[in-house]
Amino acid sequence: MTSTFWREEHRLLDASLTRFVSKHVESQAEMHDQAGTFNKALFHKLQELDLLGLTIPTESGGGGMDTLATVITHTRLAFSDPGFALAYLAHALLFTNNFYQMSSQSQQKRYLDKVISGAWIGAMGMTEPSCGTDIFNIKTTAIKKDDHYVINGRKIFITNAPVADIFLIYAKMNDKLVTFVVEQGFKGLSLGSATSKMGMRSSSMCEVIFEDCIVPQENLLSDAKDSVIHMMSNLEIERMGLAGISLGIAERCFDIMTRYAQDRETFGVPIYKHGQIQRYIGESYAKLEAMRALIYTVCAAMDDKKNNRLKTDAVKLFCSTAAKEIADAAMQVLGGYGYCTEFRVEQMLRDAKLLEIGGGTIEAHQRNITRDICEA
Ligand SMILES: Cc1cc2nc3c(=O)[nH]c(=O)nc-3n(C[C@H](O)[C@H](O)[C@H](O)COP(=O)(O)OP(=O)(O)OC[C@H]3O[C@@H](n4cnc5c(N)ncnc54)[C@H](O)[C@@H]3O)c2cc1C
Repeated sequence: MTSTFWREEHRLLDASLTRFVSKHVESQAEMHDQAGTFNKALFHKLQELDLLGLTIPTESGGGGMDTLATVITHTRLAFSDPGFALAYLAHALLFTNNFYQMSSQSQQKRYLDKVISGAWIGAMGMTEPSCGTDIFNIKTTAIKKDDHYVINGRKIFITNAPVADIFLIYAKMNDKLVTFVVEQGFKGLSLGSATSKMGMRSSSMCEVIFEDCIVPQENLLSDAKDSVIHMMSNLEIERMGLAGISLGIAERCFDIMTRYAQDRETFGVPIYKHGQIQRYIGESYAKLEAMRALIYTVCAAMDDKKNNRLKTDAVKLFCSTAAKEIADAAMQVLGGYGYCTEFRVEQMLRDAKLLEIGGGTIEAHQRNITRDICEA
């Protein structure tokens, strides 16, 4: 579904992604959801469409695309496989986009090609056992020693960590937030076992443990002066990517529910003739259109490079809950078939729930929005 906000490059991207997803993503999604496994071969295939460094300028080897293109990519991937879209987000936005914004030319020379080509998979570690929403309460520490830093701490719920070659890690040094790029093989870095979860099961995650982990001084990405600004700015595009995943889930569930309502008959008529089913369809359609309008309007504003914290919080708050509600409505329209796995609505509902938690809980968005308006 295109929009007046789309330019020719967005339509072309959407068309090639739609073909790619129906050929390569759809057929593997249910199996990986049920097994709880990440499809690494499919991840590497994304490079054929230049998706792995989508937001990185072309002169640095990336796709040179904007926020709207990021949203379209996440929407199309999530239409068939939201968990895989989340793994893509962790690589393309949480690691690659964030790394590019923070890194020096010599750091880019060492790592950028590897992640844009997909030779290396990226992940980002912010959350810790005792802090998620309260992110400035990070307990992971970094201490400068001779020509290196020593990092100690634990990161949990880190998407892609079981398969990642490189991590962007937040820590505290002298009580100030700093950021490092850390290779998988660095001494003192180890991984916990894979974390089992309700949804988004085709992405993998685990704990990342730092025990006197030695990180060369040239791997300090951002010091105390810039780390907070970079972290906040990357959260904005992360929220838009997650809103794109919400939209993909909502579009898929709406598609399933409307087809089913026309095919299924009860009391001698298709169920869409029943007023209560019309309420599920009508309200879901209104929410779907509202999601699109909000997402595309905010995408246009973001490309002006202004501070978009308030608007991106609003997008993520609205779209995550709307996607969950549309998935729930689809399950209700499908009755028993919805609760079982065949139509994949139950998977979409499990996947949608994560969007109210990951990348900021809905309560965090409510708090941020209120603070930005009432304390401006
Ligand atoms: C599948 C999955 C993938 C993830 N991937 C990553 C990743 O790649 N990298 C990463 O760093 N993290 C990742 N996370 C972590 C995720 O971002 C956090 O779970 C999220 O930010 C919430 O933090 P928390 O779980 O510690 O909850 P808490 O912060 O402990 O919150 C618990 C509850 O209290 C509420 N709450 C907290 N503070 C307030 C307040 N001030 N006012 C009102 N309510 C409040 C919350 O909204 C929530 O309902 C992932 C999580 C999941 C589940």
